[in-house]
Amino acid sequence: MSAVVAEEALNMFDHPSFDKHEEVHQFHDAASGLRCLIAIHSTILGPSAGGTRMWNYASGADMLTDALRLSRGMSYKNAMAGIPFGGGKAVIWGDSRRDKSEAMFEAFGRAVESLQGRYFTAEDVGIEIEDIEIAARETRYAAGLANGASAGGDPSPLTARGIYLGIREAALRAFGTDDLSGRTIAVQGVGSVGGHVCQHLAKAGARLFVSDVDAATLTEVAKRDGATIIAPDDIYDVEADIFSPNALGAILNGSTLPRLKVKVVAGGANNQLSTPEMGRRLRDAGILYAPDYVINGGGIINVAAEILGSYSLDWVNGKIDEMVATLGRVMDEALSSGLPTSDVADAMARERLAAAAQAT
Ligand code: NAD
Repeated sequence: MSAVVAEEALNMFDHPSFDKHEEVHQFHDAASGLRCLIAIHSTILGPSAGGTRMWNYASGADMLTDALRLSRGMSYKNAMAGIPFGGGKAVIWGDSRRDKSEAMFEAFGRAVESLQGRYFTAEDVGIEIEDIEIAARETRYAAGLANGASAGGDPSPLTARGIYLGIREAALRAFGTDDLSGRTIAVQGVGSVGGHVCQHLAKAGARLFVSDVDAATLTEVAKRDGATIIAPDDIYDVEADIFSPNALGAILNGSTLPRLKVKVVAGGANNQLSTPEMGRRLRDAGILYAPDYVINGGGIINVAAEILGSYSLDWVNGKIDEMVATLGRVMDEALSSGLPTSDVADAMARERLAAAAQAT
């Protein structure tokens, strides 16, 4: 990206990913080095909720792009999950293995608190439960906590449960059965979410091919689940029934898509499509795509239960089952209309937001 484009892109209103976001805040804490953006896309359904990502961005413009895209994704995700929350996301600029400090997460907590409940935070990539617990010393608007009256803990296992059930839902439509025994599945990323997804899939009898850039985690998961290790760059070429991306966004793009040899793409990574056009290209290639923000809402449902109080795992699992049924409806409508699943999901999410806006 040229310097000129980067400067323009720092203005939210001119940004290509600007989608009538309600608020975007920039925070800097000189003492701890915190550089953070909190984007609130919509509060139509309720206060915004979405995790915090810590990432070593190449530029402030890249950071803004991520915040705008992720917060809009949260509006759609929360709407499709049927929870009374709008869409928001926090992004912290830094290396999560090197740059964290208690002072940084206390400053982050103060930033969240300053929004007076219009944004609730939790964990996302690069953020651990301990980081959010530190932030929670300074804010009432943090969830995904390990301790406390209504603590829901790490949302990743619940995210993974929804993805596993969603993969079965997609398999039913692509292969005529949701029985995964003997199915070959290529999994990209075996971290918090991907690791739990692998565990479910292995238990269901699937044959796994796994990749990750973290060799230690990869070896551990491969050993536990009897999976075959694949080099990160080769995961798109694996001849398998299903590809499950559980690492980073924009991995379904012009160069990866022609390499896929699968019939289904279903995984938890946010913003998998590099552009909306990729949804159309997946359809044209005969690949059934489970829209990311529909299949990966299990974690935010768990967070919602915690924010609403009186946490109940039964309520969470019930909501995840509803979410998976919604995913089934999206796929059925796409298959009968010929539209890409991503377009059907976007339309359904926008309808839910418009209906809520009209009701207020
Ligand atoms: P994580 O950091 O625990 O795991 C991500 C894993 O991906 C890591 O092991 C990392 O080494 C690996 N990775 C990074 N680059 C890779 C590459 N090029 N190839 C293969 N592996 C690579 O994060 P997570 O919480 O498991 O989240 C994974 C994805 O799921 C993210 O996109 C996140 O936004 C999304 N998500 C997470 C949750 C949740 O509950 N944690 C909920 C919804 C969506």
